[in-house]
Amino acid sequence: MQHLLSNNLLENIVDHNAVGLIVLDAEKEVIVWNRWIAHYSGKSEADVMGKSLADIFPELPADMYLFKIVEDIYQDHFPKIVTQSLHRYLFPLYQDIKTKKNRIKQNIILHALNSEEKWYVLVQIFDMTASDRREQILKEQAYQMQQLTQNLQDTRTYQYALLENTLDALITFDNNGHILSVNKAATRMFNHSLEELKFKHINTLIIDYYSLEFKTFLDNIIETVAINSEGKYFPIEVGTGSMFIEEQRIFIASLRDISERKKIDEQLRFFALHDNLTGLANRILFQERLDSAIALAHRQSEMIAVMMLDLDKFKEINDSRGHRVGDLLLKKVAEVLLSAIRDVDTVARLSGDEFAIILLALQDPEQAILVAERILQYFSEPLVIQNFTLKIGVSIGITLYPYESNEADKLLSYADTAMYKAKNSGRNCYQYYSAELHSETLHRKELEDSLRQAIEKQELSLYYQPQIDLKTGKLVGAEALLRWSHPQKGFISPVEFIPIAEESGLIHEIGRWVMEEACMQNKRWQMQGYYPIVISVNLSAVQLRLKNLANDFSLLLRKSGLDAKYLELEITETFLMENADSSLLTLKELRALNVSLAIDDFGTGYSSLGYLKRFPVKKVKIDRSFVNELETDNDDAMIVKAVISLSHSLGLKVIAEGVENKQQIVFLRAEECDEIQGYFISKPLSKDDFEEQYLNVEDQIYLTLEN
Ligand code: C2E
Ligand code: MG
Ligand code: MG
Repeated sequence: MQHLLSNNLLENIVDHNAVGLIVLDAEKEVIVWNRWIAHYSGKSEADVMGKSLADIFPELPADMYLFKIVEDIYQDHFPKIVTQSLHRYLFPLYQDIKTKKNRIKQNIILHALNSEEKWYVLVQIFDMTASDRREQILKEQAYQMQQLTQNLQDTRTYQYALLENTLDALITFDNNGHILSVNKAATRMFNHSLEELKFKHINTLIIDYYSLEFKTFLDNIIETVAINSEGKYFPIEVGTGSMFIEEQRIFIASLRDISERKKIDEQLRFFALHDNLTGLANRILFQERLDSAIALAHRQSEMIAVMMLDLDKFKEINDSRGHRVGDLLLKKVAEVLLSAIRDVDTVARLSGDEFAIILLALQDPEQAILVAERILQYFSEPLVIQNFTLKIGVSIGITLYPYESNEADKLLSYADTAMYKAKNSGRNCYQYYSAELHSETLHRKELEDSLRQAIEKQELSLYYQPQIDLKTGKLVGAEALLRWSHPQKGFISPVEFIPIAEESGLIHEIGRWVMEEACMQNKRWQMQGYYPIVISVNLSAVQLRLKNLANDFSLLLRKSGLDAKYLELEITETFLMENADSSLLTLKELRALNVSLAIDDFGTGYSSLGYLKRFPVKKVKIDRSFVNELETDNDDAMIVKAVISLSHSLGLKVIAEGVENKQQIVFLRAEECDEIQGYFISKPLSKDDFEEQYLNVEDQIYLTLEN
């Protein structure tokens, strides 16, 4: 064998070898030895170089087999293996290894080497002790394994008995969901025999179980529903595992009927979350509900109210009339509170005589006040409990999410503060946490109250804003716009009070008044001999939802004697979009009366003109926000242009509202818009002013035709 290793490297390899190496020359004297030997024999190089084996290991008996073998090798040049036990004191490192006879077993391999026609002997000493021990350990392990297997076999029988007698149903099924085996509990749980269950699909027992999501509950425990042979559903807990048997995947489901537990859980939960005396939610449940109410209100951008209620002088009654009466009183209060709220709301008894309420999804802070007033109203009468006539006062504090806070804790403490405010301000009343909010709702409430009387008090009037034909410059109509002059507050804009009228339902009465006034006035003008014009009246969405609206109109027209063609109704685009199907019939009925319909505020509702064509409308009124920026905003100009040309192609007339300057008129005329309305012509005018400035004139031309 050729090698390219340097002598130095070779020496190193020899030195660091993990076996003991000794080379004896032809004279049987040591010429090479390595560290292993140095280490184990405790001798230095100088001690051994040029010595014989017997010199190196003087402790070994002279007739030792090893020495003889070395002799033999020099004779026959044949490699030999010797297993020899050397006395362990030769090898200090092994002193702490306990072998039986305190001896260490070595394998010694001897080779005859020939180099440059001389014979050498290579002695390699392998320490076998370690591997012997390994063998021993392996043997022990094997023994233990055997014991284990035996045990396993024993436990299998044991386990089988366990499985058969366990209360949990066990079902194995294959990759296709077909049942392979079941235990006794399974037959009991489903009221099927073993034969009936075999090869059935697992899903006939556990609803939607072996499905796409199956993987997600492998090795997990889930709660689901099972169905027994009588078709009865019951809640179960299922743990699912899988194993491979002869390369086939087998699933095992362990089912536990949890009907009882659920029932108990529910009962426990009920007791844990409700007040024993009144059955109302307790503080814990109240907190839970408040947290989820806030989360929901946040998602849906809704308002909620939190109320705190405290009975005035409850302690006195309790002390003087006895606890029995006190308890009955609290029950009565619970009843009253429950009757004052909707099903979705929560009433809780937080402690002694302290109650709290959550009102969900409020449209208006007013609704919370209504509830508070209903409660106060109830307690304004004395209660009779066990022959005692009791006068109970209630103080209520109200706070609103999200206006005052969006945190549960804060809402509760604000409501509490408000409640104390109520107590201090004379009891038997309610208070908002923040004064501002209070005054705002009060303002609304006041407004509503005075609006209620506005018609009677003749505070309402109609103003008229002229509508001009762009081609001829002539007056063709007027929009009737409602005005309210409040005795103290002065003029109140329809933008402010129409929404209140709509929410309170007052709009019906007001709307009817507007209609009647507009029709009567128009008829009167005609009777006075003025050139006839069309009156446009705004119809509120709330009015349009009224069933016999068309009927009302036909009566009204007959009463006033006005020809229907001189009446136009303005309906907002947003209303049409939101109530397309439900309003179509009403609109058709109105149209059948020969009243014309116009779409007000067009462009703000994102509808398409083509879509609006299904409604029986005659006119489109471009919203003033587009007209406004006509000269400055190119987009608006494009929209107006498109609306006009599209409307025309659909046979609809177009009126632009909010026209304020000359440039807008130039543009609209160039685009052949039919009519205009706006401050450029005139602001809405009182009946008298309108008569004087627009009706009582010769030619009725209000727009010159130059440009
Ligand atoms: P609307 O039907 O779009 O009425 C047009 C509004 O624009 C009127 O405001 C009018 O005064 C104003 N306006 C007219 N020309 C110009 C202009 O050149 N520039 C500007 N900036 N504004 C102009 P008003 O009278 O305050 O009415 C506001 C809204 O109140 C009306 O909008 C309508 O939706 C509602 N409303 C008014 N009267 C009634 C009514 O009798 N019944 C119902 N249901 N709603 C009404
Ligand atoms: Mg209008
Ligand atoms: Mg409008």
